Order: sequence, then C-alpha cells, then structure tokens
Amino acid sequence: MKIRIDKAACAGNARCAAVAPELFPLDENGYIQVEEIEVPPGKEDLARRGARACPERIIVIEDDKK
Ligand code: SF4
Repeated sequence: MKIRIDKAACAGNARCAAVAPELFPLDENGYIQVEEIEVPPGKEDLARRGARACPERIIVIEDDKK
C-alpha cells in the first residue's frame, strides 16, 4: 500500500502521527516530513486510520490492493 501526502497543504496539527507515529514522520514543528509513504505489510489499517484522522484530507491512499 502506498500513501501520498500533499505536504505543502499540511496544517501541522500532528493528528496523523497521533494515530500512527511510526508511519507519519513529522518535523519539529509538527508538519509532515514526507510526500510518499510505503506502508509496511500489516500496517494498512493503521495507515487508513491515520489518513482519516487528517482534518485537511491531504493524506490519500494510492495503492490499496492489500
Ligand atoms: S494530520 Fe494532516 S494536516 Fe495534520 S500533520 Fe498530519 S498530514 Fe499534516
């Protein structure tokens, strides 16, 4: 599973990392650090929950095969 993030639109509220800190790396100000995440096997549900937690709706599940 792959996740794409519209990094420039991140509001820095750290909601994604509150759900899944190991999946969503933030900088020291609480903004997302990456534009793409390759989700490790077994972390798909966590990734979906993190995406839903983003109030800006900028975390998009791209490749949801498994
Ligand atoms: S939840 Fe969304 S807006 Fe908030 S830090 Fe994560 S990516 Fe940025």
